[in-house]
Amino acid sequence: MDHEVIVVGGGPVGLFLACELRLAGVSVAVLEQRAERGPHTKAMAVHARTVEQLAMRGLAEPLLTAGVRLPSWHFGFLGTKVDFTGLDSPYPFVLSHPQNRTEALLEEHATELGATVTRGEQVTAVSQENDGVRVESATGTTREAKWVVGADGAGSAVRTSAGVAFPGIEPSFYSYLGDVLADSPPPPGFHVVNEHGAMMVAPMPGGVYRIAGYDPAHQEHDGRREITLDELRGICERIAGRDFGIHDPLWLSRFDNTTRVAESYRQGRVLLAGDAAHMHFPAGGVGLNLGLQDAINLGWKLAAVIQGRAGEELLDSYDTERRPWGDDVARHTMAQTALITATGPEGLALRELLSGLLADFPAVSDRLARRLAAIDVSYPPADPGAHPLTGTRVAEADLPDARPVLLSPRPLPHASITATRLGIRVASGPATMIVRPDGYVWWATDDDDPDAAAGEALENLGVTF
Ligand SMILES: Cc1cc2nc3c(=O)[nH]c(=O)nc-3n(C[C@H](O)[C@H](O)[C@H](O)COP(=O)(O)OP(=O)(O)OC[C@H]3O[C@@H](n4cnc5c(N)ncnc54)[C@H](O)[C@@H]3O)c2cc1C
Repeated sequence: MDHEVIVVGGGPVGLFLACELRLAGVSVAVLEQRAERGPHTKAMAVHARTVEQLAMRGLAEPLLTAGVRLPSWHFGFLGTKVDFTGLDSPYPFVLSHPQNRTEALLEEHATELGATVTRGEQVTAVSQENDGVRVESATGTTREAKWVVGADGAGSAVRTSAGVAFPGIEPSFYSYLGDVLADSPPPPGFHVVNEHGAMMVAPMPGGVYRIAGYDPAHQEHDGRREITLDELRGICERIAGRDFGIHDPLWLSRFDNTTRVAESYRQGRVLLAGDAAHMHFPAGGVGLNLGLQDAINLGWKLAAVIQGRAGEELLDSYDTERRPWGDDVARHTMAQTALITATGPEGLALRELLSGLLADFPAVSDRLARRLAAIDVSYPPADPGAHPLTGTRVAEADLPDARPVLLSPRPLPHASITATRLGIRVASGPATMIVRPDGYVWWATDDDDPDAAAGEALENLGVTF
């Protein structure tokens, strides 16, 4: 075996997964087709749950320092914005931080932890054998590993090669995008939807502005991914009534609303994460967040199975826990694209109505903020008798080495001995609970004898660390 795990794709999800696997000491190679990181940034929004989970690993600080904290964010470009300031999170905002910088930080960290990142290597096929996988590249190289993870984006060669179905909806419209300089930009937070189309203009680092939206007059399906600067000027004039003095484009592109979720996130020794497992319109700025949350769910489970510390049923829980949230995001973004493209009289009336509800009912805004921020994600246990906290999110926890922690407000002398034997840390906390490596409650108790109850729960976890 060349490595225990080959991660195909050195985007943010593949790189973060490599970090997670290395924390457990798993040997991991990342194969990335691009010789070097591209100059453009797709994602800007990093949401609260992602920041919480990065903070658990000690990785949030550079993003928090360099990023811009936005108190509100749009839903389907509605006139009233969703307010994030009331989130019950240490990070009640949307953090604007360019994806290519996040990737650079994750690559540096993965390499420091001992992952091998090979660039200029395009994977063309994967095949499974008895106790391993073979990964073939366009260079003619064949590598062997115990497991392969496809983190190779929406067009995933790993997913296709493994024959995993990717059902969903075909594109019904194109969106335009321009990252440009502007001599007379609108104020921050500008967006508009009217009978001419939809547009948002968002400031980015370096004086750059991202102009993106939907133009019903620019829907010719001629296969072109790019638009011209003149076309973008025309779109601005028509939809926003002025061209903002745009010039010197850094990136001009088009993307569509294809929405798909893989039929399974695991097929034998092949796993899928990030855009390889789910693709959707980038409304709400959640795709990267969703993928990083896949990676932190998968990493500790795959490591435990590889190292013989857990049975494979733990790995199956990756699919059962994460795929429903991929489906949920897919539905949520489809709801937003319906709003963004609602430029007819009925659609505009509906938008006005929803915008009013959002303004008048803070609970509606809170609900949407929690969904976009993914702080409503939970993994309900199969056991109906489990403690109500089981599977719920822990906002803050010190989990730097991706090992669980046993928390309790009082000493648990016997359970502490068991925890230490199993490789689980013990710390003081507000309730007696075991927190999983990805920051969710594994087990909790209100028992009169929490020491005995915790000891028993630890023995039954079925995993050591
Ligand atoms: C315009 C736009 C704006 C967005 N804004 C946001 C936002 O604000 N917030 C947010 O959360 N998300 C946003 N997204 C979505 C986000 O960019 C993606 O969800 C994210 O990039 C997914 O990361 P990934 O690592 O799964 O896949 P990718 O970023 O696609 O990375 C996959 C990597 O695999 C490599 N690769 C592909 N095929 C192979 C192969 N065969 N062999 C080897 N390597 C291969 C690719 O070169 C790439 O580096 C946006 C997307 C777009 C298009």
